[in-house]
Amino acid sequence: MKNERKCEICRKHKVDKKDYRFIDSCGLQGKVIVCHWCFGLGDVAISEIMRDELDPEDFYEEEIE
Ligand SMILES: [Zn+2]
Repeated sequence: MKNERKCEICRKHKVDKKDYRFIDSCGLQGKVIVCHWCFGLGDVAISEIMRDELDPEDFYEEEIE
């Protein structure tokens, strides 16, 4: 069986990277295992994803033309 852990931020995508976040409102106090989508986003976007269960991919569509 393949071990596919989900991203600790969005819980939607496969984990890809190790990141360090300190966002009190989200309970993040250091190391988090994230997908490559969440990895590239700022703290504000990360808190929105955790609070509203958004898909981090949507944040990129707004930025990339
Ligand atoms: Zn993610």
